[in-house]
Amino acid sequence: MRLPPGVTSADFSDALQQFEAAIGKEWVFTSEQDVDLYRDSYSPFWHEDEEPVPSAAVAPDGVEQVQAIVRIANRYKIPLWTISTGKNLGYGGSAPLLGGSVVLDLKRMDRILEVNDKNHYALVEPGVSYFDLYRHIQDQGLKLWIDPADPGWGSLIGNAVDRGGGRTPMRDHFDAVCGMEVVLPNGELLRTGMGALPNSKTWQQYKYGFGPYITPAFSQSSLGIVTKMGIWLFPEPEAYLTGTVTVPKRDDLKPLVAGMAYLLNSNIVMGTTSVGSPLNFMRADPQLAAMHAKPGGATTEDLEGFLHSRNMGYWSVELPFYGPAKVVQAQWEYAKKRFSSIDGVQFKDGKLHRFPIDPAEVPNFTNSVAVGIPSLGVFGVGGARSNGHVWFSPVVPMTGEAVLEAQKVFTDAYNEFGMPTGPMFFLGPASNYARCFLILFGFPIEHDVEKNRKNRENFKKIVKVAAEHGWGEYRTHTAFMQTVSDTYSFNNHALRRFHETVKDAVDPNGILSPGKCGIWPKSMRKATA
Ligand code: ADP
Repeated sequence: MRLPPGVTSADFSDALQQFEAAIGKEWVFTSEQDVDLYRDSYSPFWHEDEEPVPSAAVAPDGVEQVQAIVRIANRYKIPLWTISTGKNLGYGGSAPLLGGSVVLDLKRMDRILEVNDKNHYALVEPGVSYFDLYRHIQDQGLKLWIDPADPGWGSLIGNAVDRGGGRTPMRDHFDAVCGMEVVLPNGELLRTGMGALPNSKTWQQYKYGFGPYITPAFSQSSLGIVTKMGIWLFPEPEAYLTGTVTVPKRDDLKPLVAGMAYLLNSNIVMGTTSVGSPLNFMRADPQLAAMHAKPGGATTEDLEGFLHSRNMGYWSVELPFYGPAKVVQAQWEYAKKRFSSIDGVQFKDGKLHRFPIDPAEVPNFTNSVAVGIPSLGVFGVGGARSNGHVWFSPVVPMTGEAVLEAQKVFTDAYNEFGMPTGPMFFLGPASNYARCFLILFGFPIEHDVEKNRKNRENFKKIVKVAAEHGWGEYRTHTAFMQTVSDTYSFNNHALRRFHETVKDAVDPNGILSPGKCGIWPKSMRKATA
C-alpha cells in the first residue's frame, strides 16, 4: 500500500483504523481498485511515477465526521486533499497535488438544506451537483435558475471555491457565494458572514457579516473544508434573447470589444459572451493553409479577402440578454445602435425564448447551460480521439488590442512548440468575469510519456511567456500550481509569503491540501523551494 509522505506504515494503519471507527469501515477506501477511482483521468503524468496517486480515500457523511477525520489527520500528520464531487477535469480531477495524500471525498454529503424562491438563494452541502439542484427545483416547481458550469455533473461548492464560471447573469460562481460553514484544519467549525451570529436570519442574504470578510480565504485555498455554502440563484426571467454582431475586418475587433465592454460593464449584457473568428476553426482549409505556408505567412489583407470571398466576417460575438421580453428586445436594439458606426457591421437576431421553457425546445439550444439547464454536452467538444486536456487559462484585459496581442503571442508560442493552436479547445476569449477576458486553451493529454513530458515543459513555458506580458492564470491544474504561483511574484513573493504565514498559523501540522496554489506548509517548504 502507498503511504502518505513521512508517515510510517504502523502510524498509517492506526490512522486508517481510527478513520474506520469514525465514519464506518465501508467508507474508508484503501484497495488499489478503489483508490484508482481517485486518480486524475486527465493526468499529464500517465504511466509515470510522478503521478500523484492517493494512498487512500475517506468519504464522511456529515460535519462531525469531517471534524473527526481532520483531528485524526492532525494526530498522524496525514495530508488530506478535499474534493466535493472531484469532477474538476482539466484542473486535476479528484487527485491530490501531493502523492500519498488521503482524498477527503465529500460527495456523500449531498443535502440541499434550503432553497428560497422569494429571495432567490440556496444552502447546499458539497456533494450537491448542478443536476441535483436543478432536479430539486424542477420537482418543487420553483421559478428559479441555477447557473451550471459547462459540465453539470460537478458540485456547486467545488466549482465556486475553485472560482469556476457559467453563462447566465450569475456566471461568476464565487461572486454568487453568500455565507459558508467551514471545518478548519484543527477540526473547529466556523461559519462566515452572518452565519457567525447564532440564529442569524440573513446568512444567505448578506455576505459580509462583521469585521474582515473572510469567506474568499476559503476559495482556491488550503485553509478549510467547506461543508455548507450559500449561493445566490437567479429568478427565472421572462425571456432570453441573443443577437449576433459580425464585423468584416481584423481591426474591427477594437471597436467591437469596446462596445462589448460598455454593454457588459453597464449590465445591459449580463451573460457570458465570447469573441470568435471563423479562422480559428478553419485551419485545415487548403486555401487558408496555402496562405499561411507562403513566405512571410498570410497577411491581414489575405485573410480578410479569404473571409469576404466566403461571405464571412472576421470576428463575431453573440450577445445574450435576460429579462422581461420588452426589455431584452430594447437592449438588443440599443446594442445594435452602439455597434452601428463600425463599417460593414452585420446583425443577426436570435430567437426570443420565453420561460418556463417547453422541454421539447431544450435540444434546440446550442448550449442549454446558457438558460440554466445543466448538461454534459461540452464533452462533445474534443471528439472521440481526445484523452483529455489540461487548461491553460490566462486572464487578459477586455480590449481588442489585448486580444490581438495575446493571439499573436500565444500563436507564436504554439508554433515554436510545434503544437496546433486549434481548433480543438481554442474557445476564444470569453468574458465570464466582469472587465476581463479569460482565454481557454486545452493542452492535450497523451497516453505517451515523452509527449506528456514535452507538453508539460511547453505548458510551463507558456505560463512564463504570459507572465512576461502581464497576463496571469485564473486557475490551473495541480501539476502547474507551483509554476503559476511563481509568476505572482511582486515584491519578492510578498503574496505567497503572506499566504504561508496564514497557512502556518491556521494549519501548523500542514495537513490540509499541501502545495495547493503553491502554498506549502512549513515542514515541506524547504524541500520544494
Ligand atoms: P467539483 O465538485 O465541481 O467537481 P472538485 O471536487 O473537483 O469540484 O473540486 C474542485 C477544487 O475545489 C479542488 O481543488 C478541490 O480541492 C477544491 N474543493 C472542492 N470541494 C471543496 C470543499 N468542500 N472545501 C474546500 N475545497 C474544496
